[in-house]
Amino acid sequence: MINDPDCIFCKIVAGDIPCFKLYEDDATIAFMDINPVNPGHALIVHKAHHKDLFEIPADNIASVTLSAQKVAKAVQTTLKPAGMNLLQCNGSAAKQSVMHFHMHVIPRHIEDGLTMNWELVQGDLDKIGALAERIRGIM
Ligand code: AMP
Ligand code: ZN
Repeated sequence: MINDPDCIFCKIVAGDIPCFKLYEDDATIAFMDINPVNPGHALIVHKAHHKDLFEIPADNIASVTLSAQKVAKAVQTTLKPAGMNLLQCNGSAAKQSVMHFHMHVIPRHIEDGLTMNWELVQGDLDKIGALAERIRGIM
């Protein structure tokens, strides 16, 4: 499996840094975003390091998408938001900040003020961890 020792998501995959893990299978891992734009904001990554949409093999995208659907369903059941965005960013103008292909699961609320790009603001880790436990509990 391709790995970049300087990549924060590869470090999470390797278990070298902690995460609020939601789901894992042979190919993918899903965990809570620590700078959530809304409660329940989660990320799904392939375990192999590929930078973006243009470099990742098609099969890997398929694995990430299938896992994203599982996570999105669990988030939907847990939080019952009014809507849900799946988002995937490529390149600096698209505000990609981690150069390891990933998909965002973002619960949405009516008029929550969220625009396409946002600044990273760290969330309350206790609240994120508690939410992770609730979502995990139904997967
Ligand atoms: P993007 O802007 O699409 O590259 O999104 C990268 C996401 O990774 C951002 O929403 C960050 O908040 C999130 N992130 C960065 N480091 C971590 C981490 N250690 N654990 C969880 N989420 C992270
Ligand atoms: Zn990586």
